[in-house]
Amino acid sequence: MAILLSPIGAPAAHWQREFARLLPDEEIRVWPEVGDRGDITVAAVARLPDGELANLPKLKLIASLLAGQDALLSDPKLPSVPIVRTGDPGGDELMTETCLAHVLRHHCELPAYAVAQTHREWQPRPRRRADERRVGILGLGAIGTAAARKLAGHGFKVAGWVRHARSEPGVEIFAGREHLQAFLARSEIIVNLLPLTPETIDLLNKDTFARLPEGAAVINIGRGATLVDDDLLAALDSGHLSGATLDVFRQEPLPKDHRFWSHPRVTITPHVARRLDPAGIVARIAENVRRLRAGEPLAWLVDRSAGY
Ligand code: NDP
Repeated sequence: MAILLSPIGAPAAHWQREFARLLPDEEIRVWPEVGDRGDITVAAVARLPDGELANLPKLKLIASLLAGQDALLSDPKLPSVPIVRTGDPGGDELMTETCLAHVLRHHCELPAYAVAQTHREWQPRPRRRADERRVGILGLGAIGTAAARKLAGHGFKVAGWVRHARSEPGVEIFAGREHLQAFLARSEIIVNLLPLTPETIDLLNKDTFARLPEGAAVINIGRGATLVDDDLLAALDSGHLSGATLDVFRQEPLPKDHRFWSHPRVTITPHVARRLDPAGIVARIAENVRRLRAGEPLAWLVDRSAGY
């Protein structure tokens, strides 16, 4: 029995150290040095070439190293073994901080002042308090919920858009497509924290942008393909949207000739909203490996049909 590891976000040695510490009795094979494929029962991976996981005849569990399952689930030969999440169900400190930083930046109109500065224009804008600003978060999962709580704690009027209705103190919940328009209409700054699924691809398009209030800002730290690039540029160029901050893109790295690079109202960060935390991730993998070996129900399962 062995665990196949495909390191990402940290050197292989760092991951191996955590596996050795938390699963000392398990043999760890670092991809592509798979060895005898029949030994592998667990794969801890972000994504491998299509068909690679299907070539592991004894595979019983896939531990997904990334929060988004889109890359993994796009493998047409993905074996039908359980997939478990490995992120902290309580949220991600760095993602929360990224959300707070970008929301505060748009709230304080810093992108508009950056543009004004390039023209040496002294243009004071009305200063608003946080409780006068309506922030909308698309996706209140592990990461979105923690971010929503932080933003609400800061004083913003926060709403979240989800699939399944639920209550969350201090956060107005809008559930399902039938409530998307109302969610957008009340949100002056939106933060995308949706997983990329067949339902969310291209969701941020000209129609959804048009539903946002005049002067709204868009922050995308979920996945690039949730947003239609040309529609965002058109909404910025028309003045309907005041700015956009993008950490994720349809193609990464963002091609040098993409219009986002030179647009005065677009801020780009190179997919750095968070840093993977091998210690926490391996601790959750270890818990599920223990459950697997003990025949207990697994924790933090991915719903493959929903795509997250
Ligand atoms: P979760 O799977 O925990 O939560 C997903 C949320 O999205 C849930 O609230 C879910 O609703 C909601 N949702 C999913 N589909 C729909 C839909 N069709 N309509 C309305 N709501 C929907 O995700 P995480 O919080 O762990 O992560 C969110 C995403 O952030 C990841 O999938 C990843 O793409 C991205 N990410 C980006 C990073 C970066 O570096 N930029 C780093 C980490 C993550 P419900 O609660 O009803 O199920």
